This record gives sequence, C-alpha cells and structure tokens, in this order.
Amino acid sequence: MPQYKVAIIGAGPAGYFTAQALQNAQTDEITFAIDMFERLPTMWGLVRSGVAPDHPKIKTVSKVFEKIASDPNFRLFGNIEIGTDIDIEEICPRYDAVVMCTGSSEGKKLGIPGEELPGSLSAAEFVPWYNGHPDYVDVQVPLDGDTAVVIGAGNVAMDCARMLALDPSELDATDTALSALAAFHKSNIRKVYIAGRRGPEHAAFTSPELRELPKLEHTDVVIDAQEVEAAHQRAHAAGEVEKHLAANLEAWRLIAEHPRAGHARSMEFHFLAAPKEIKGNGKVEEVIFGVNEVKDGKVVDTGKTYSIKTNLVISAIGYTSPHIKGISVRDGKIENKDGRVLGTNIYTVGWAKRGPSGVIGTNKSDASDVVALIIEDLGEPKQGGDISVVISHGHKVVDQQSWVRINSSEVASGEAVGKPRIKEVNRDKLLHLGGNE
Ligand code: NAP
Repeated sequence: MPQYKVAIIGAGPAGYFTAQALQNAQTDEITFAIDMFERLPTMWGLVRSGVAPDHPKIKTVSKVFEKIASDPNFRLFGNIEIGTDIDIEEICPRYDAVVMCTGSSEGKKLGIPGEELPGSLSAAEFVPWYNGHPDYVDVQVPLDGDTAVVIGAGNVAMDCARMLALDPSELDATDTALSALAAFHKSNIRKVYIAGRRGPEHAAFTSPELRELPKLEHTDVVIDAQEVEAAHQRAHAAGEVEKHLAANLEAWRLIAEHPRAGHARSMEFHFLAAPKEIKGNGKVEEVIFGVNEVKDGKVVDTGKTYSIKTNLVISAIGYTSPHIKGISVRDGKIENKDGRVLGTNIYTVGWAKRGPSGVIGTNKSDASDVVALIIEDLGEPKQGGDISVVISHGHKVVDQQSWVRINSSEVASGEAVGKPRIKEVNRDKLLHLGGNE
C-alpha cells in the first residue's frame, strides 16, 4: 500500500484541518504520513494567539486539533522555522506534497502620516500581545490615557476594542497573558472609539459579534441611532437586503436602542470616518479623520475633518502573509492557483492561500478542496529520506509529546487559579516545560 509523505508548514487551524482532510482521504490504496512544522514551541496558531480570550468557546476546537495530532502517522516538529532553521528547498524533495499553512501575520498599513509614532500599533501586534505570543510580549501598549481609537470595521477591530473596553475583572478568568492582564487592570482607558471608513451597512463585523455588545456588563456601547436609521434606508434603497446585512442592520438597531447604563467604560462606533493623519510630538496625541458620506451608493470624502485626542491607535485593517525564504508572496498571499503553487509540489491552505478572510471553520472546506488537488497530482511516492537528517543536531524540537507536556502544564497552572490555562510566554521556559533541556 503506497504511503505518501506530506509536510504541513504551520500548526494553526489551516494546518490541522489539512492534516484532518488527509487523514479522512486515506483508503486501502493510499495512506499519508504527515509531518507538521511550526516555528513556535506552542501550537494552534490563531486559536491560541488570535481568538479573543473572552471567547473561550471558539478555542474548544483545539480538542479536535489534538485528536488529529494523536494519529500514529502524524509527527510534530515544533520550534522549527522554515526559511531559517530549514530551507524549503530541503523540505520539498523529501515529501510528496508540502502545504504552506503559514497564515498572514503582518498587519496591513494605513499608509498615513504619523502611523509609525509610538502608540500607533497594528492589531497584528496588539492581539498577540494580549494573547501571550512569545514574540510580542515586549510590545509597548500605552494605556495611560483615557481614550483609545481602533481603526477598522471588522471582527478583529471589534476584538481589540472589546479587550480595551471591558472591565478587566471580566478577563480574570480567561487565558489573557498575565502581563497583559496586569496592564489592563492598571489601564486608564475608559472610552474606546471604533472607526469605520464606510457606513454601518458596509461593516465587516458579523452579527453574532454585534449581538453580544448590548450584553456587556460594565461597558456602554454607543452608536448614533440616526446613523443606524440612515444605514437602513441606504441599504433598502440599494435593492434587496441580503441575509447577512439584514442580520447586521437588526443588530445595529438593538445596539442603538439599548439603554445606556451610565458605565464609566464605553465603546463608541464612528462610521464614515476615514483616518487621514496621526499627529503627535514623539508619540501619538491625536488622530485626524476625514468625514465621508454616501452619495449615489458611493462613499465619498466631504472634505471635512475632525480629530480625536488619544495616546493609543490600533489599526485592524487586515493582514498580509509574511515573507518566507523560497516562497513567492503577491498581494499579501502566497502566489497560488486554487491552492497549487504552480510548477512545484507546494500547496497552500488558509489565509496564506486566500488572504485574511473567513472564520476558523472556513479552513476546513478550504483544506478539503486543496487535499483533493494534492491527491489528483500524486505520482509514485517520493524516496527522499527522512527530514530528521537535516535538522541540526541539538536543535530543540518540540514534538507532540513535548507539546502535550507544555499544554498540560499550562492547563494545570490555570486550573489552580480558576483560569483555562496560564500561558507561558517565554520561549526558553516553554522548551523547559516541554522537557527540551
Ligand atoms: P476584515 O473583516 O476584512 O475587516 C477589515 C476592515 O478594515 C474593514 O472594515 C475595512 O474597511 C477596513 N479597512 C481596510 N483598509 C482600511 C483603511 N486603509 N482605512 C480604514 N479602514 C480600512 O478583517 P479582520 O477584521 O482583520 O478579520 C479577518 C477575518 O477574521 C474576517 O473574516 C473575520 O470575520 C475573522 N475573524 C472572526 C472573528 C470571530 O468570528 N469572532 C474574530 C476575529 C476575526 P472596508 O470594508 O471599507 O475596506
């Protein structure tokens, strides 16, 4: 029975769902030996370092990941970075297929003056900071002012705004990184603005995220009722309102109608607000917004501006794929056709393939589609030898057993204090927990 070897690069949702699709595609004729590579000593990608800590249910998919990883034909090579520790050229000849599931970890730039000032951060820094990603523990997040501005009208912007606007006691029983939690407890931020450059009817938020806002216990959520009404009218004037938009418009109405409790903390939506400039003397002090309007269905600049004083601006306007040696990235994605990197035995799944869109589950069907192409392309199994020979002697590889030890240890520390886990954020300590002395 031929066994094909597949390397999966990246231990996030796209990686695990690719492994699962390969496992599910096995027959009496074909089996797969799967090697998963991950640059961090910790697994699960955005499920660990992206999903907001106050959304623990979304993280339960990690149980599925661990079941996938328990298969005897699955090997984990954590703490190995492709392009740094091993080159892609060393991987490809040893595998029948190599699947890049490396996501898009870099924040898109606003491209406006002042964006580089201290206090102007990308969600690509802020989110992994509060989620305890080892590479982002030292991000400086100024929480001493009373106001924060989040730019973008997508679910990542919403996560960032919520994390800033929640009463930190609501995060005590979550897996928020301890250092970030301590910073949130000391935070002076009481007002968080979320600014979308188009109208509420154009926002990329999804309705479950909007519907949870009126339920926040210690935060008033504010949107101008007239703005919501105008969005309703524009949406209906434009033709039939599709289901997703109707659900969002209804959610907006509920938010606008929800009585304000007079909490000290608030989260306020500003729409038709296009960021023009971030100003400040050596640090962020103010954001200038251009006022847009919707004219004949198009969003246009009115020429008017207004400003919000703040020390903290977080732009959550999408992501691009990082550069990986030997891999071509174009328009923020790995260059591919339906997941195939043409002329190679490389494939791609997830955000690296299609750009930063969709929820965790979207990667499941994406992975199945690409695995079908992999199977279509299979020839005779490659005899390229085992990858272990190119991993330098003494390199601390986090294999599945090490990762299970790290995971169990974090969960045990958390359980002792009523949290799902306490994340270790230091690479050396993680390796120690994994038994990689
Ligand atoms: P997104 O949904 O694509 O939203 C990006 C937002 O940034 C849009 O509102 C976009 O506005 C705005 N934007 C882009 N360029 C801009 C600029 N130059 N100036 C001002 N605004 C700009 O991206 P995301 O929030 O990063 O989310 C990525 C994916 O992850 C989405 O599919 C999301 O649903 C998913 N996600 C899901 C959850 C969840 O299920 N709870 C949580 C987090 C993320 P325009 O529309 O005007 O371009």
